[in-house]
Amino acid sequence: MRKRIVAGNWKMHKKLEEGLSLARDIRVRLEGRCSEGKEVILFPPFIHLAGIARLLEGPTGFHCGAQNCHHKTEGAYTGEISASMIASAGASHVIVGHSERRKYFGEDDALLAAKIDRALEEGLTPVFCCGETLEERESGRQFEIVGRQIRKALFHLPEEKIRKLHIAYEPVWAIGTGKSASPEAASEMHAFIRSEVAAQYGRESAEAISILYGGSVKPGNAAGLFAMPDIDGGLIGGASLQAADFEAIFNAL
Ligand code: PEP
Repeated sequence: MRKRIVAGNWKMHKKLEEGLSLARDIRVRLEGRCSEGKEVILFPPFIHLAGIARLLEGPTGFHCGAQNCHHKTEGAYTGEISASMIASAGASHVIVGHSERRKYFGEDDALLAAKIDRALEEGLTPVFCCGETLEERESGRQFEIVGRQIRKALFHLPEEKIRKLHIAYEPVWAIGTGKSASPEAASEMHAFIRSEVAAQYGRESAEAISILYGGSVKPGNAAGLFAMPDIDGGLIGGASLQAADFEAIFNAL
């Protein structure tokens, strides 16, 4: 059975004390309600990671991760953070390929493939983000774009490794805009992603991968999205910054 997950991407929000306090609040609200099959993952800024990893130790089903990692093992890359540093801070996951990284930092498919490799080598679980822009959707190219993103960044992996990651479908036009994809549109893309994975690796592997939806998920629309058969949870941006909203979204899982 694949996992059902609610993950919070805090982006560049929260000073250290505010971040620790939010993580503490989320733990208090959700302790005893997570399990091996139903997880919470928090993605705070790098400097919060070690503190939040400690704070989430103990109860089953709580994890934290980084929002990015460098694609090299180590070296003279001022300002960068490696996958092994992330793991050594006690984190277990890492987001790779968020559309903001693609857009503002020029991250392309080849670089993302290298980051996926580094993350897996360090035992981190990558959450690989893919999604089309508004222009790509309006011109009917959304399946071509998302299909290419997952093929180029993921399909070099052997079968035993593809099962070790999660995928987040995040249409760029829905991120931070308040305009979520409809459950039907999101579900159609999730089914497409799963069928592409199945065509490459077989149905069993495709069924083992959690595919999260991200893009303006809120307490009011989470239940409709999470009820769809191929949507295994959400990657939440804005609404993950308030513990009460995050809890309400978890309740919809
Ligand atoms: C995100 O950036 O991953 C995201 C889903 O943001 P939001 O929920 O704010 O649209």
